[in-house]
This record gives sequence, C-alpha cells and structure tokens, in this order.
Amino acid sequence: MPQHSNLSHLTRLYETASDQILEDYLTFLRFQSISSESEFSPQVNDCALWLKQYLEESQFQVELWEGEGFPVVFARNMEAGPEKPTILLYGHYDVQPVDPLELWETPPFDPVRKGDLVYARGAQDNKGQAMYVIAALRAMAASPGGLPVNVKLCLDGEEESGSLNLKEQLKIKSSDISADYMAIVDLGLFDENNPTVSLGVRGLSAVTVEITGSDTDLHSGVHGGIVYNPNHALVEIMAGLRDKSGRITVPGFYDDVVELPDEIRSKLWSGIDAEIYEQAFGAKATGGEKAYPMTESASTRPTLEINGIGGGYAGDGFKTVIPAKSVAKISCRLVPNQDPDKIRQLLIDYIRELTPDGVTVDFPGTNDGGKPVRSDYQSKIVKAVAQAYSEISGVETGYHLEGASVPIIAELVDAMGAEPVMMGWGMIGDNMHAPNESFSLQRMKKGFITIARMLEIMGGVNDSEA
Ligand SMILES: [Zn+2]
Repeated sequence: MPQHSNLSHLTRLYETASDQILEDYLTFLRFQSISSESEFSPQVNDCALWLKQYLEESQFQVELWEGEGFPVVFARNMEAGPEKPTILLYGHYDVQPVDPLELWETPPFDPVRKGDLVYARGAQDNKGQAMYVIAALRAMAASPGGLPVNVKLCLDGEEESGSLNLKEQLKIKSSDISADYMAIVDLGLFDENNPTVSLGVRGLSAVTVEITGSDTDLHSGVHGGIVYNPNHALVEIMAGLRDKSGRITVPGFYDDVVELPDEIRSKLWSGIDAEIYEQAFGAKATGGEKAYPMTESASTRPTLEINGIGGGYAGDGFKTVIPAKSVAKISCRLVPNQDPDKIRQLLIDYIRELTPDGVTVDFPGTNDGGKPVRSDYQSKIVKAVAQAYSEISGVETGYHLEGASVPIIAELVDAMGAEPVMMGWGMIGDNMHAPNESFSLQRMKKGFITIARMLEIMGGVNDSEA
C-alpha cells in the first residue's frame, strides 16, 4: 500500500503479529454470537469470555457488565497517565442472524479464507473491525513505550438487537465510561484508496397515520358522493407534506437544521452521481430536494418518506368500496439539530391541520430511531483520524455523512459528553447483514495502522518521534 514513511514502525508492528492476528480473528468468527436469537445465548456469552481473556492478556483491566441481555465487555488501560487524554473505542461482538442460510457459499461460522478475503458472518460487521482494534491495542500496550493515551474499550453484545443492556449500563456506569474522545469503529468508507471520515449519522422519527371515515366499509354506489373517502383524505394529506421542489412543507421542519460549513461541503465524498446511481440501482435520483446535490440529499439533509400506504381494495379485479379506514407509515431521517420528538409533534400537528372535515385522524404508532449525531470536523480526534487515513493512503482525506441512523451512537455521546468520531474500513461489497459476508486482510492491516496511528497522534507522538 502507498504510505508515508513514518508508518513503517506500525507496519512492522502489524507484520510481526499478523499470523497471530489471523488466527485470533478466525477464532473470534467461530463464535455464533447472534444476539437476537435465544438459542445462541451460550455462544454470545462464550464470545464475551473469550474477549475478556484476550484483553486481560493485552494488559487491560476487564469487566463484564452483566444485566438483562448480553454482557458489555468493558476494558481499560490507563497507564499513559492523567496528563494524557482518554479515548473510548466502541465496537460490538454480536452479529446478525444468518438466514437465508442456503445463499451462503461457505458455512457462516466456519470462516474460509480466499486470497485476501475472509468469509464468515461478522467478518466485517463488526468482528473484523473490532479485531484490528484489539490487535492494535495489544501490540501497542506490549511495545516499549506502551499505549500513548489512556484507552477504554466498550464492546457491545447487543448492537444488532437494540443495545438494551448497554443503555441500562450507561445510566449506572457513567464515571467508568467517561472519556475525552470517542471513536465508533463500526462504519466504513466508499473508496479504499480515497478514505473519508464519517462525520455523522442521521436520526429517525416515524409515525403511523390512520384516517377513519366510517365504522365499516361502504358501498361506493350508495355512499359515493356523500361521504369523505378516507383514501382521498389520506392522499391529499400526504401530497401536502412535500412540494414540487422536494422541500418538506411541515411548518418548522427545517428550523433547527444546521447547514454544513462550506469547508466540509467542498470535501464531501462525491464519487457517485445520478448516472452511476441509476446504473447501480435502476432508479432515477430525482426524489430529493432540487436545491441540493444528490450526495447531500442522501446524508446532510433531512427527509420525509411514506414507507407504506394502505386502505380499501387493491387486489385482482374490482371491489367498489369506500374503505372505513386508510393508513400510512411515515418516517423522517433527521440531521443536527433536529429533535425526533419535536419533529414528530410538528408532523402530527400539521397532519391534523390538513385533515378534511368528515374524517378523523389518529396516530396509533410512533417509533424513535434515535437522535442525529454530527462530529465537529475541527475536533482533535476527527483531525487525528483524517491524518492517519491520509498517511496510509497518500491522498488528502475527505468526509462523508451516513444516511442511516445508529441510535446507540447518540446515547453514547449523551452519556459520555465526549467528542465523537465515526470511522472504519468497512465497504459496501462486504455484504454486511447479508449472505457471504467478507472482510479483506489488507483492510485489516490498514485498520490496525489507522487505530495505532490515531492513538499516537492523540497522544502527541509526532512524526519525528515515531
Ligand atoms: Zn455493526
């Protein structure tokens, strides 16, 4: 890989340990640590115990935070001393279920190496990424200078099933978990040769809208022209939520949106355009706000989407009915500093206002998918990760923002009060959450060096000393 000369000591550190890292990685992958299916409980717990031992052998003090659900593996090494910053690294050791099993070309918990790639459930998400983190920590802790900063490590056993135990632990372990900076190492980038730091995730707020016109479905010949058809009411309301420019018309919806600074906007990853998108997904990129480029609509801007709509008869042939009810599911992806509760209330208020006389509206279900999070691009830890990426790739690091939502990140940021960075060497082709998940050993190495270099930079180890 092209790299800056000051990484040679870290490359050596990796290469000295690489056979052992691969062996440990394969062991890690063999645990069937599926947190959402109870039959795998013993395997999830065994995986936590294996990590505990691994970290104890790596000069870390380790605790298993037990509660309902699966343990959080919490480890710390504070040897760097009080004048050095404390960095918390977050990852998870549980994995997604494997179905549909028949689509796997090799057994999901019997890892297979093919050239540079290792295939297994969790190969990337998140065991591959957690592996380079713990391997880098072990190697640095054992090197003559030790770790250049104080390190805390939080490995969640339920990231794929709601992080319920960790959320409880955050309430009682706030002093343990406190840190100056936090790195969430569970994300990825788009182009291995042009790495980008992830500056954030979107939040989510969702609501079910139910329109009722009558107690039972009505004959459209007898009642048509008299009653207000709930389907008509619903589509009129839905049509009122966005205008032709793609802008969401809910009053106050954009009030709290923080625009991206130009300095970041100009460095946003833009490796995909409408044409590439259409080739890849067979869909035109015409759904966003016309005033913003596609990559921004997909990450830095909030959205409102109707996820589902139903009412009356839509089967074969015709049934001339006026439905008693119609229903829609709406979700909004949110950006800083939109608050999910506030946005949901604005949406509900506006839908009430748009509801015509003759039908009633109810909101029988809501879902809170977490708050949006955005890192300060000028924070020390974002700069350190960007520098590490640049030194590894030989090109200037850009930025990107995630379109998706990861609720536990906002909870961690709130609980710790630490400056976050979101990072990782995952890529879309790794098939995370899908059959034939894989991770590349080349990226395992780059991940190891990124973590080690980031910790060096945070600890004030500059080029000449390294
Ligand atoms: Zn993950």
